[in-house]
Amino acid sequence: MNDQPTSMNRREVLGTLGTLGTLGAVAGMASIATIPGLANGAQNNLPTSPVPGAPSAVKWPFSPESMGFDAAKGVFSLPPLPYAPEALEPHIDKATMEIHHGRHHQAYVNGLNKALAEIAKLREPGADAAMHRHWMRELAFNAAGHANHVLFWNCMHAPKDKGGKGGGQPEGKLAEAITQSFGSFEAFSAQFRSTASTVEGNGWAWLVVNHAMGNRLMVMASERQQDLFAWGTTPILGVDVWEHAYYLKYQNKRADYVAAFMNVVNWSTVAAWHAMAAH
Ligand code: MN
Repeated sequence: MNDQPTSMNRREVLGTLGTLGTLGAVAGMASIATIPGLANGAQNNLPTSPVPGAPSAVKWPFSPESMGFDAAKGVFSLPPLPYAPEALEPHIDKATMEIHHGRHHQAYVNGLNKALAEIAKLREPGADAAMHRHWMRELAFNAAGHANHVLFWNCMHAPKDKGGKGGGQPEGKLAEAITQSFGSFEAFSAQFRSTASTVEGNGWAWLVVNHAMGNRLMVMASERQQDLFAWGTTPILGVDVWEHAYYLKYQNKRADYVAAFMNVVNWSTVAAWHAMAAH
């Protein structure tokens, strides 16, 4: 897994900034300028939560709690959907959500637990070394499948015209970062939708924070659950474009499904994840 910042990291950074702001030291200002994403006067406007206006209850998607990891048993369980299966209608239908979460996502959780158990057996004397390749593939496929879907469920919400938080555009620091990285929200959205619509076979499209590029935002794609992705990046938005994600309602019209997905993106949650990842 990529690095896993928490909101506590962010608070620690902000606490440091608060101290520096009080001192008003020139040396301190120089230090602030080296912190990616916080060089634009953030020391003068200290938020008390990861993002001003964002729900403080937003959880990092790859935490053990979000991922359903039981540390005592060393196994994962399927976390419940964070809303009712019909919540995303009319954009994503109830039956698709029930099958996608209850059957497909459950299968990845089961496959991940199986891979972890089989890999543990390969550490025993006399194990068949030729099986490492197989179980590494199973591990990558199912671990990515589990993490991808946890992020996917949690980056969506009921559309705003149904009383939810889905759709519209991001605000605040995330909006600024998208403009800096893509030119405009419209340019980002067009690139993201085109990427999602053209992934070959089954896959995903992502909005990622690229740490090596000073936390610049990038659109990436992955084939299957896990191929073509890059280390050193952290996804903060993802859309599943496997046929099981949309075929019941959209059949082969993947671009229509991707356009509908944009109506249920919970930008306040994505903004909170951005603040956690891009510190
Ligand atoms: Mn899926």
